[in-house]
Amino acid sequence: MTASKGQVVTIRYTLHVDNELIDQGELDYLHGHRNIVQGLEEALEGKAAGERVVVSVSPEKGYGLYDPEGVQVLERDAFPADAELVEGAMFYAEDSQGNPMPFTVLNVDGKEVTIDFNHALAGETLQFDVTLTAIRPATPEELEHGHAHSLHGHHHQ
Ligand code: ZN
Repeated sequence: MTASKGQVVTIRYTLHVDNELIDQGELDYLHGHRNIVQGLEEALEGKAAGERVVVSVSPEKGYGLYDPEGVQVLERDAFPADAELVEGAMFYAEDSQGNPMPFTVLNVDGKEVTIDFNHALAGETLQFDVTLTAIRPATPEELEHGHAHSLHGHHHQ
């Protein structure tokens, strides 16, 4: 069995950016449903359990290019009164379709709050070192939800 659309793939991974370790761990994802960044999913396509994949993913196929227009200045009043506005805090806005749009607080200056909709890894080349540890067919429920339901449990937002 190999990683292909509709399979739940378990991977152990490390992620480096500029030779600095950013993230590591193990996760299940549903292949072919964009649960993971595009460039990594493409590199894992057709690979079998036990195989190791070392791949460098461009920003275009990772977390996107850095968009200067993603940085915006809002009035303090645009936030709930009890919101803790500190540098690095993350919040969610909604787009016109109601999709969550995460953003990060960059700076708070009096009544003005500078925020950034760019992903923290936007514009970065991602260096993945991945070992596929298991592959199984997804359950009908997983296919319906578009994500895997196993390993470390599952939380719906
Ligand atoms: Zn689910």
